[in-house]
Formats: sequence, structure tokens, C-alpha cells
Amino acid sequence: MEKQLLCEAHSVAGPVRSSARAPRSVSGPPRSYFGNRFVYAVISQRAHGLSIGVNLNPDKFCNFDCAYCEVDRGSIPTNTSIDLDVLAEELEEMLGRAFYGRMRELPGYESVPDDLLRLKEVALSGDGEPTLCPMFAEVVETVLHVRAKCFFPFFKVVVITNSTGPRCTRSTRCASSLATASTGNAWIRRRSARRAR
Ligand code: SF4
Repeated sequence: MEKQLLCEAHSVAGPVRSSARAPRSVSGPPRSYFGNRFVYAVISQRAHGLSIGVNLNPDKFCNFDCAYCEVDRGSIPTNTSIDLDVLAEELEEMLGRAFYGRMRELPGYESVPDDLLRLKEVALSGDGEPTLCPMFAEVVETVLHVRAKCFFPFFKVVVITNSTGPRCTRSTRCASSLATASTGNAWIRRRSARRAR
């Protein structure tokens, strides 16, 4: 498994890698929600192109306290619940943009090269540790259901996790969800972090 030295969820530049082989340089617009509540887009250095993200942590909850975390936890989040119908609607709208050539209608994407606009993944991530989201299982099912409807070409699903969630008190539910995701060709990338709360 590729070893990564920096949590990739909240680094616009992507992870610092231990390998001597540096990844191809990728730059583009930073993470933006474009008015959405849960679904965002980013040109990801980690993914080498367009990544559509789903924020499972609107409450900004994480069990780590990394010195390099880019999430602003100084402000109290106002909208902390997850609405699965809204999430699915936002995801389908963003997937439609990605697959039908409408990303350039979004601010910041007007001049992004074609190769960076090809969708690389849908990432379950967020402003915290996604597997600690109380609705993690439901979000996984919602994303896989959107994919199963086949309105869009097949897309890869990635869970970006600090890998502690499946060992937490919600382990049974998390493990079940991840197993379901795995049969749907989901990928789980692990990240290392420095300090647990
Ligand atoms: S693991 Fe948690 S604290 Fe560390 S960078 Fe990611 S969200 Fe921030």
C-alpha cells in the first residue's frame, strides 16, 4: 500500500509522498461547493484530475488533531446534519457536469485542460474523519445507488480515511458498509496522521 505522509482530505496540493518518484504536477481550482451543501469538486493532485467529493463531516468532527489540518474548527458549524436526498441530488448534478462537458460553466473551471476535467473518482471525504459519520453506511449506500442507476458511466468510489474509523465503536456498521462498497469496486485509501485526540 502506498504510504502517505499527509492526510490528503484537506490538502489542496495533495499528499506528500514517501516515494522518491514525484507525482506528475497537477494544479487547478481548489475545493469548491458551488453552493452545494455536501458535494464539491476539486482538481486533485492525489487523483491526478477531477475529483468529486462528498463531505460526510459537516460537523467537522475528527478523532485526530493534525497540526497541518486545513479545516477551520474555530467557527461553529451551523448545518451539521446530512440530508441523503439533497446529497444524491447534488451528486447527480455534479456528475452530469463532469460527464457531459459542463464543468467549464463553473467559476474557476473555464480554462482547465480537458485531461484534468475527466472524472477520476467520487471521494467520500469531508471536514473530518468520514467513517465516524453516524450516517456513513447510508451515505455509502446513497452514492452506490446513484452509480447503480447507470445514468452515468461507471465511476470509481474512494473513501479517504485516517483508517481509525473501522476500529471505533461503530466498527460493525462501518465494516459492513465498506464490505458493501468493496463489492462495488470501491477503493479505500489510508492516510497517516500524527496525533489522536
Ligand atoms: S485526519 Fe482529521 S485532523 Fe487530520 S487532517 Fe484529516 S480531518 Fe484534519
